[in-house]
Amino acid sequence: MSRKLTDKVIVITGASSGIGAATARLCYEAGMRVVCAARRTEMLEQVVEPMGVQGLAVACDVRDDQQVAALFEQTIRQFGRLDVIFANAGYGLNRRVDRTSNEQAHDLFETNFFGTLHCIRHGLPLLRQTEAGLRHILICSSAASDFGLPNYGLYAASKASQKSVAQAMRAELQRENFSVTSVHPVGTRTEFFQAAAVASGRPEMRNRTNTPMMFEQTAEQVAGKILKAIRRPKAEVWPQPLARFGLGLLVMFPGLCAFVMRRKAVTRQTGAKSVASSGPAESNP
Ligand code: NDP
Repeated sequence: MSRKLTDKVIVITGASSGIGAATARLCYEAGMRVVCAARRTEMLEQVVEPMGVQGLAVACDVRDDQQVAALFEQTIRQFGRLDVIFANAGYGLNRRVDRTSNEQAHDLFETNFFGTLHCIRHGLPLLRQTEAGLRHILICSSAASDFGLPNYGLYAASKASQKSVAQAMRAELQRENFSVTSVHPVGTRTEFFQAAAVASGRPEMRNRTNTPMMFEQTAEQVAGKILKAIRRPKAEVWPQPLARFGLGLLVMFPGLCAFVMRRKAVTRQTGAKSVASSGPAESNP
């Protein structure tokens, strides 16, 4: 049965651009009250402005536990309830594992993993307290949650950690009637690859995506699938079903996965598909 969303309250992190902003707009159009959180407040204001009293922009760095606590306090002060959390804030890191600094690795997990955990810790009690609430947590993982993409190995690890948390919580909270959904987009046309290039110190990679063009999606396409899952909760959202099928084969056949990943690493290193290589390397460390 499709759930009624009118006047229900959702908190979305990473709502200043991309998938988060597109989801915020769709949730608003569906009648929800939307709390948009991120660090770039001017962009947040632009997302929230058309929403009038149904929207709220909150400056929040998800790495900071206190700021996340304040985000949820402000939500309750403004709207008096909480129905859905979409822990979406995150970024990519385009570096070989052995060439990633400790600082880069820690910051990645502080945002993608601990940022998600901060939202769960502060948001969950409020979802519980909300009478007749939707009790739904969505976590933006990735299609890379099941395998270590060359040059995105640590990013894939951070996304796998989010998927594991979602899986565990789905079982842990079922008796309390919670839904926990992990979202697994493939390459989506957002600021993601630009942000990854900056975080990796590799500006020349800003226009490189991981995904064959036929599988690429827009933020709006992904947001449409997310809204559908809020209406009818499901365990996992794979916005691109064909990619889901292909990646499922890689999970089932690790030998095939290793072969495909080796080929991908060679392509990245040389720009040509047919050249042999001794292993993955960055073209420009
Ligand atoms: P964008 O770069 O467009 O959006 C990322 C959002 O995260 C921005 O709003 C950014 O806001 C926010 N963010 C980053 N760091 C923090 C932080 N420390 N605190 C608060 N907010 C933060 O990319 P996408 O929309 O594509 O990314 C959204 C999610 O989708 C991410 O988790 C990403 O890993 C995942 N994903 C994306 C894919 C893609 O191909 N685009 C594929 C698979 C998964 P601000 O900088 O203002 O803080």
